[in-house]
Amino acid sequence: MDLVNPRAMLEQARQGGYAVGAFNIHNLETLQAVVAAAVAAGAPVILQATPGTVKYAGADYLVAMARVAARQAAVPVVLHLDHAIDIDLIGTCLEAGFTSVMFDGSTLPLEENITRTRQVVAMAREKGAAVEAELGRLGGREDELAVDAEAVYYTDPDEAATFAAATGIDSLAVAIGTAHGVYRGEPRLDFERLQEIAARVNLPLVLHGASGLPDTAVARCIALGISKINIATDLKLVLAARLRETLAANPEETDPRRYFTPAREAVKETALAKMRLCGAAGRVQT
Ligand SMILES: [Zn+2]
Repeated sequence: MDLVNPRAMLEQARQGGYAVGAFNIHNLETLQAVVAAAVAAGAPVILQATPGTVKYAGADYLVAMARVAARQAAVPVVLHLDHAIDIDLIGTCLEAGFTSVMFDGSTLPLEENITRTRQVVAMAREKGAAVEAELGRLGGREDELAVDAEAVYYTDPDEAATFAAATGIDSLAVAIGTAHGVYRGEPRLDFERLQEIAARVNLPLVLHGASGLPDTAVARCIALGISKINIATDLKLVLAARLRETLAANPEETDPRRYFTPAREAVKETALAKMRLCGAAGRVQT
Protein backbone atom coordinates (compact mmCIF):
# COMPACT_ATOMS: atom_id res chain seq x y z
CA MET A 1 0.00 0.00 0.00
CA ASP A 2 1.15 3.57 -0.60
CA LEU A 3 1.17 6.13 2.23
CA VAL A 4 -2.41 6.90 3.28
CA ASN A 5 -4.40 9.90 4.48
CA PRO A 6 -5.12 9.34 8.22
CA ARG A 7 -8.75 10.45 8.17
CA ALA A 8 -10.37 6.99 7.97
CA MET A 9 -7.75 5.50 10.30
CA LEU A 10 -8.44 8.07 13.02
CA GLU A 11 -12.21 7.90 12.60
CA GLN A 12 -12.06 4.11 13.03
CA ALA A 13 -10.00 4.59 16.17
CA ARG A 14 -12.53 7.08 17.51
CA GLN A 15 -15.41 4.70 16.84
CA GLY A 16 -13.45 1.74 18.19
CA GLY A 17 -12.35 3.42 21.42
CA TYR A 18 -8.61 3.13 20.82
CA ALA A 19 -5.88 5.49 19.61
CA VAL A 20 -3.38 5.37 16.76
CA GLY A 21 0.24 5.81 17.85
CA ALA A 22 2.03 8.66 16.09
CA PHE A 23 5.79 8.37 16.40
CA ASN A 24 8.44 10.97 15.66
CA ILE A 25 11.13 9.49 13.46
CA HIS A 26 14.50 11.03 12.61
CA ASN A 27 16.35 8.72 10.25
CA LEU A 28 16.21 5.41 8.41
CA GLU A 29 16.65 3.29 11.54
CA THR A 30 13.92 4.92 13.61
CA LEU A 31 11.52 4.87 10.67
CA GLN A 32 12.18 1.16 10.10
CA ALA A 33 11.81 0.45 13.82
CA VAL A 34 8.38 2.09 14.06
CA VAL A 35 7.03 0.42 10.91
CA ALA A 36 8.40 -2.96 12.02
CA ALA A 37 6.59 -2.50 15.33
CA ALA A 38 3.33 -1.66 13.53
CA VAL A 39 3.65 -4.76 11.36
CA ALA A 40 4.41 -6.94 14.39
CA ALA A 41 1.42 -5.44 16.24
CA GLY A 42 -0.97 -5.46 13.29
CA ALA A 43 -1.55 -1.78 14.05
CA PRO A 44 -2.17 1.25 11.84
CA VAL A 45 0.64 3.76 12.31
CA ILE A 46 1.52 7.42 11.84
CA LEU A 47 5.13 8.43 11.19
CA GLN A 48 5.80 12.05 12.07
CA ALA A 49 8.60 14.47 11.33
CA THR A 50 8.99 17.91 12.87
CA PRO A 51 10.20 20.88 10.77
CA GLY A 52 13.60 20.33 12.41
CA THR A 53 13.66 16.75 11.13
CA VAL A 54 12.61 17.88 7.65
CA LYS A 55 15.53 20.30 7.72
CA TYR A 56 17.85 17.53 8.91
CA ALA A 57 16.82 14.70 6.58
CA GLY A 58 15.05 16.47 3.70
CA ALA A 59 11.34 16.18 2.80
CA ASP A 60 12.04 14.07 -0.29
CA TYR A 61 14.23 11.61 1.60
CA LEU A 62 11.61 11.22 4.33
CA VAL A 63 8.84 10.63 1.80
CA ALA A 64 10.94 8.16 -0.19
CA MET A 65 11.84 6.14 2.91
CA ALA A 66 8.28 6.21 4.27
CA ARG A 67 6.89 5.14 0.89
CA VAL A 68 9.17 2.14 0.66
CA ALA A 69 8.23 1.18 4.22
CA ALA A 70 4.51 1.63 3.52
CA ARG A 71 4.65 -0.45 0.35
CA GLN A 72 6.35 -3.31 2.13
CA ALA A 73 4.13 -3.16 5.23
CA ALA A 74 0.84 -5.01 5.60
CA VAL A 75 -0.54 -2.15 7.71
CA PRO A 76 -1.60 1.38 6.71
CA VAL A 77 1.16 3.98 7.17
CA VAL A 78 0.77 7.79 7.29
CA LEU A 79 3.54 10.38 6.94
CA HIS A 80 2.66 13.45 8.98
CA LEU A 81 4.38 16.82 9.40
CA ASP A 82 4.35 17.67 13.11
CA HIS A 83 4.04 21.24 14.51
CA ALA A 84 4.60 23.28 11.36
CA ILE A 85 4.21 27.03 11.67
CA ASP A 86 5.71 27.98 8.30
CA ILE A 87 3.09 27.66 5.53
CA ASP A 88 5.80 27.46 2.84
CA LEU A 89 7.27 24.41 4.57
CA ILE A 90 3.81 22.84 4.69
CA GLY A 91 3.54 23.41 0.92
CA THR A 92 6.93 21.80 0.36
CA CYS A 93 6.01 18.73 2.41
CA LEU A 94 2.60 18.33 0.72
CA GLU A 95 4.29 18.62 -2.65
CA ALA A 96 6.85 15.99 -1.63
CA GLY A 97 4.11 13.53 -0.66
CA PHE A 98 3.33 13.89 3.07
CA THR A 99 -0.22 12.61 3.57
CA SER A 100 -0.95 14.70 6.65
CA VAL A 101 0.22 18.00 8.14
CA MET A 102 -0.18 19.79 11.43
CA PHE A 103 -0.51 23.54 11.34
CA ASP A 104 0.39 24.85 14.77
CA GLY A 105 -1.17 28.28 15.08
CA SER A 106 -1.47 27.97 18.83
CA THR A 107 0.69 31.04 19.37
CA LEU A 108 -1.61 33.19 17.19
CA PRO A 109 -4.78 35.03 18.20
CA LEU A 110 -7.86 32.85 17.53
CA GLU A 111 -9.00 34.73 14.42
CA GLU A 112 -5.61 34.51 12.79
CA ASN A 113 -5.24 30.86 13.77
CA ILE A 114 -8.59 30.20 12.02
CA THR A 115 -7.60 32.14 8.87
CA ARG A 116 -4.25 30.41 8.46
CA THR A 117 -5.58 26.98 9.38
CA ARG A 118 -8.26 27.37 6.67
CA GLN A 119 -5.53 28.23 4.20
CA VAL A 120 -3.62 25.06 5.15
CA VAL A 121 -6.82 22.97 4.89
CA ALA A 122 -7.33 24.24 1.32
CA MET A 123 -3.72 23.42 0.41
CA ALA A 124 -3.97 19.93 1.91
CA ARG A 125 -7.29 19.13 0.21
CA GLU A 126 -5.69 19.78 -3.16
CA LYS A 127 -3.17 17.04 -2.40
CA GLY A 128 -5.63 14.68 -0.71
CA ALA A 129 -3.89 15.17 2.63
CA ALA A 130 -5.32 15.70 6.11
CA VAL A 131 -4.84 18.55 8.58
CA GLU A 132 -4.36 18.57 12.33
CA ALA A 133 -4.48 21.89 14.16
CA GLU A 134 -3.97 22.95 17.75
CA LEU A 135 -5.90 25.09 20.16
CA GLY A 136 -4.47 25.96 23.55
CA ARG A 137 -0.75 25.77 24.17
CA LEU A 138 1.39 22.92 25.53
CA GLY A 139 4.40 23.57 27.69
CA GLY A 140 7.85 22.03 27.33
CA ARG A 141 10.18 21.75 24.42
CA GLU A 142 10.15 19.97 21.07
CA ASP A 143 12.86 20.88 18.57
CA GLU A 144 12.75 24.65 18.03
CA LEU A 145 9.36 24.92 19.75
CA ALA A 146 9.82 25.93 23.38
CA VAL A 147 6.98 27.19 25.58
CA ASP A 148 7.49 28.62 29.08
CA ALA A 149 5.19 27.59 31.91
CA GLU A 150 3.51 31.00 32.04
CA ALA A 151 2.64 30.87 28.32
CA VAL A 152 0.76 27.56 28.68
CA TYR A 153 -3.01 27.65 28.40
CA TYR A 154 -5.59 24.89 28.17
CA THR A 155 -8.00 24.34 25.30
CA ASP A 156 -11.38 26.00 25.80
CA PRO A 157 -14.17 23.54 24.83
CA ASP A 158 -16.46 26.18 23.28
CA GLU A 159 -13.61 27.79 21.39
CA ALA A 160 -12.61 24.32 20.17
CA ALA A 161 -16.07 23.73 18.72
CA THR A 162 -16.03 27.12 16.96
CA PHE A 163 -12.53 26.51 15.67
CA ALA A 164 -13.30 23.02 14.31
CA ALA A 165 -16.42 24.24 12.51
CA ALA A 166 -14.73 27.34 11.09
CA THR A 167 -11.62 25.58 9.75
CA GLY A 168 -12.72 22.19 8.41
CA ILE A 169 -9.75 20.43 10.02
CA ASP A 170 -9.58 16.64 10.30
CA SER A 171 -8.27 16.37 13.85
CA LEU A 172 -7.64 18.67 16.80
CA ALA A 173 -4.69 18.70 19.20
CA VAL A 174 -5.75 19.65 22.72
CA ALA A 175 -3.90 21.17 25.65
CA ILE A 176 -5.10 19.54 28.88
CA GLY A 177 -1.92 19.51 30.97
CA THR A 178 0.56 17.43 28.99
CA ALA A 179 3.91 18.90 27.92
CA HIS A 180 6.58 18.13 25.35
CA GLY A 181 9.85 16.58 26.48
CA VAL A 182 10.67 14.96 29.81
CA TYR A 183 8.31 15.51 32.77
CA ARG A 184 9.59 16.65 36.14
CA GLY A 185 7.09 15.06 38.48
CA GLU A 186 3.79 13.55 37.46
CA PRO A 187 1.68 15.82 35.25
CA ARG A 188 -1.89 16.58 36.35
CA LEU A 189 -4.28 16.26 33.46
CA ASP A 190 -7.64 18.00 33.19
CA PHE A 191 -9.79 15.00 32.25
CA GLU A 192 -13.02 16.92 32.76
CA ARG A 193 -11.93 19.45 30.17
CA LEU A 194 -11.06 16.67 27.74
CA GLN A 195 -14.52 15.18 28.20
CA GLU A 196 -16.13 18.55 27.49
CA ILE A 197 -14.03 19.08 24.37
CA ALA A 198 -14.92 15.59 23.09
CA ALA A 199 -18.61 16.29 23.69
CA ARG A 200 -18.47 19.51 21.64
CA VAL A 201 -15.98 18.63 18.88
CA ASN A 202 -17.05 15.91 16.48
CA LEU A 203 -13.48 15.05 15.40
CA PRO A 204 -10.62 12.76 16.42
CA LEU A 205 -8.66 14.49 19.21
CA VAL A 206 -4.89 14.37 19.51
CA LEU A 207 -2.77 14.15 22.64
CA HIS A 208 0.72 15.64 22.38
CA GLY A 209 3.40 15.15 25.01
CA ALA A 210 2.33 11.59 25.85
CA SER A 211 5.89 10.36 26.53
CA GLY A 212 6.39 9.71 30.22
CA LEU A 213 2.67 9.77 31.09
CA PRO A 214 1.55 6.94 33.37
CA ASP A 215 -0.22 4.18 31.39
CA THR A 216 -3.40 4.73 33.37
CA ALA A 217 -3.51 8.40 32.30
CA VAL A 218 -3.06 7.44 28.64
CA ALA A 219 -5.85 4.85 28.90
CA ARG A 220 -8.17 7.39 30.52
CA CYS A 221 -7.46 9.97 27.80
CA ILE A 222 -8.32 7.39 25.13
CA ALA A 223 -11.53 6.43 26.94
CA LEU A 224 -12.47 10.13 26.97
CA GLY A 225 -11.97 10.67 23.24
CA ILE A 226 -8.28 10.84 22.28
CA SER A 227 -7.73 9.03 18.94
CA LYS A 228 -4.09 9.91 18.21
CA ILE A 229 -1.26 9.71 20.73
CA ASN A 230 2.04 11.45 19.90
CA ILE A 231 5.22 9.78 21.09
CA ALA A 232 8.57 11.49 20.50
CA THR A 233 10.66 11.70 23.67
CA ASP A 234 10.27 8.06 24.73
CA LEU A 235 11.77 6.86 21.44
CA LYS A 236 14.64 9.37 21.60
CA LEU A 237 15.50 8.29 25.16
CA VAL A 238 15.60 4.60 24.35
CA LEU A 239 17.57 5.14 21.12
CA ALA A 240 20.23 7.25 22.84
CA ALA A 241 20.41 4.93 25.85
CA ARG A 242 20.93 1.81 23.74
CA LEU A 243 23.54 3.50 21.54
CA ARG A 244 25.48 4.66 24.62
CA GLU A 245 25.24 1.25 26.20
CA THR A 246 26.44 -0.57 23.08
CA LEU A 247 29.34 1.81 22.47
CA ALA A 248 30.37 1.79 26.14
CA ALA A 249 30.46 -2.01 26.10
CA ASN A 250 32.38 -2.03 22.79
CA PRO A 251 34.60 1.07 22.81
CA GLU A 252 36.50 -0.07 19.72
CA GLU A 253 33.37 -0.57 17.62
CA THR A 254 33.26 1.56 14.45
CA ASP A 255 30.69 -0.30 12.35
CA PRO A 256 27.40 1.66 12.39
CA ARG A 257 25.48 -1.49 11.49
CA ARG A 258 26.66 -3.12 14.70
CA TYR A 259 25.68 -0.29 17.06
CA PHE A 260 22.51 0.70 15.21
CA THR A 261 21.05 -2.81 15.11
CA PRO A 262 20.41 -3.10 18.88
CA ALA A 263 19.32 0.55 19.01
CA ARG A 264 16.78 -0.02 16.25
CA GLU A 265 15.52 -3.10 18.05
CA ALA A 266 15.08 -1.10 21.28
CA VAL A 267 13.08 1.60 19.47
CA LYS A 268 10.91 -1.10 17.90
CA GLU A 269 10.17 -2.69 21.30
CA THR A 270 9.23 0.68 22.81
CA ALA A 271 6.98 1.57 19.87
CA LEU A 272 5.33 -1.84 20.06
CA ALA A 273 4.57 -1.38 23.76
CA LYS A 274 3.00 2.03 23.03
CA MET A 275 0.84 0.57 20.25
CA ARG A 276 -0.44 -2.06 22.67
CA LEU A 277 -1.04 0.60 25.33
CA CYS A 278 -3.08 2.63 22.80
CA GLY A 279 -5.20 -0.42 21.97
CA ALA A 280 -4.11 -0.18 18.33
CA ALA A 281 -2.55 -3.67 18.18
CA GLY A 282 -4.52 -6.20 16.16
CA ARG A 283 -6.78 -3.57 14.58
CA VAL A 284 -5.57 -4.24 11.04
CA GLN A 285 -7.11 -7.30 9.45
CA THR A 286 -4.49 -8.99 7.31
ZN1 LIG B 1 3.46 18.12 19.87
